[in-house]
Amino acid sequence: MNEKMYELGAAPSAIRELFAYGLARKAEIGAENVFDFSLGNPSVPAPDAIAQAMARATELPPMQLHSYSPAQGHPFCRAAIANNLNRRFGTAYSADDLYLTMGAAAALDACFTALANPGDEIIVNAPYFPEYRVWIENTGATCIEVPTRPADFQLDVPALRAAITAKTRAIVVNSPNNPVGTVYTRQNLEELSTMLREKQEEFGAPIYLISDEPYRELAYGDEQPSWVPALYENTLVCYSWSKSFSLPGERIGYVLVPPAAADARRLYLAVCGAGRALGYVCAPTVLQQTIADCIDEPVNVEPYVRNRKLLTDMLDELGYEYIEPAGAFYLWVKALEPDAKAFSEKAKTHELLIVASDSFGVGGWVRISYCVGEDVIRNSRDAFAALKADYA
Ligand code: PLP
Repeated sequence: MNEKMYELGAAPSAIRELFAYGLARKAEIGAENVFDFSLGNPSVPAPDAIAQAMARATELPPMQLHSYSPAQGHPFCRAAIANNLNRRFGTAYSADDLYLTMGAAAALDACFTALANPGDEIIVNAPYFPEYRVWIENTGATCIEVPTRPADFQLDVPALRAAITAKTRAIVVNSPNNPVGTVYTRQNLEELSTMLREKQEEFGAPIYLISDEPYRELAYGDEQPSWVPALYENTLVCYSWSKSFSLPGERIGYVLVPPAAADARRLYLAVCGAGRALGYVCAPTVLQQTIADCIDEPVNVEPYVRNRKLLTDMLDELGYEYIEPAGAFYLWVKALEPDAKAFSEKAKTHELLIVASDSFGVGGWVRISYCVGEDVIRNSRDAFAALKADYA
């Protein structure tokens, strides 16, 4: 067998491991006694319109509903998505610019596979979603980590400039961000764009941005996420409805290859080719039908706004340090000792499940997923207080 694949399967991610521990612990001592902040599983129910559209879809003739779609997805669904983007961002995309996938995971993997050859480099901004490394390395490319700015976790453009080489094919940006909750400012992205244009000129080859945007609508700070292709033409967008419509189990998302990107037609076909090579073809048709019907549904961020306030008020009172999130549903909290893994283990002794930052490529912090019920936050107060007292 392929040893690398064996290793990936045998060693689950630290996040999944903590989640599994939480399930076992809940069975032992009761769910109400475990404060599980490990996973990014949305706690807001999917909009009612989704269930209604799925029910309507089941009324369609079976041959229409259950048959294969074209590999890149039904034209009607891709056109609905293009129209929605055009209305919101003043663009002129068409169905032919979109490739439907099973979630953002498959979209990202298809982009990495479409762009990278063995020996190439793809840059990620640390802290970052851990699966990026798995997908990048699976193409034979090298995953290069560049830390974000220590004070505000915005992109460190001078550090990115220094990290770019002739082998750099792409940089991944993720705003609103998992795990920090940062939204990159427009100015920050403009600086990135100016720098990248200079570097493209220097190397005489495109350097693409891969904009990973599953949290796009979950932004509730002062800064709204910029539409990245409007600031930098060589941007591929990866999206899913896993977080915005709370549909992570349904596996539906897309890659957008804007026509203004360098070599756009060939690149779109390379994304199709990557989808083919990886077996990511013909996204689920019930979901294609549902998304086409519900594309303009509003996204409900209110529960996350409330949870953010509940949690940050509580941690303020207890004296924890954290980065105020502008979006997504994660709080990035300073560990109370340099070893974040040891801190996360100590938290477990109080039945608090929080993920050590080492999983995201940096030390010294933990991630609290606050996409949980309000009662989980309220009831965790004593546990956070006891954890703080351990370090008094
Ligand atoms: N990118 C980021 C930053 C994520 O946090 C996640 C999931 O948590 C994904 C991509 C994958 O999302 P999907 O469920 O759409 O595959």
